[in-house]
Amino acid sequence: MNPVRLTIHDLDSDDGAAIPVETDERELDLFKEQICRWIYGIKNQGFEPKTGHLCGTCDFTKLCGSE
Ligand code: SF4
Repeated sequence: MNPVRLTIHDLDSDDGAAIPVETDERELDLFKEQICRWIYGIKNQGFEPKTGHLCGTCDFTKLCGSE
């Protein structure tokens, strides 16, 4: 893989923020480590529901534990 540009699209922010990620080796390594932590957390269901204005239309209400 040879990424040209990396961007995190923060779906949790109200304005749909796009966060650019620098593509030098150090930043890429940090980004890979962050992705691994997210994947590990998801696999182990290690996340807390973050309730907000989207909950009313969310399909996962009964699954996420916010009820
Ligand atoms: S219902 Fe749960 S998963 Fe859906 S937006 Fe709210 S906190 Fe997130």
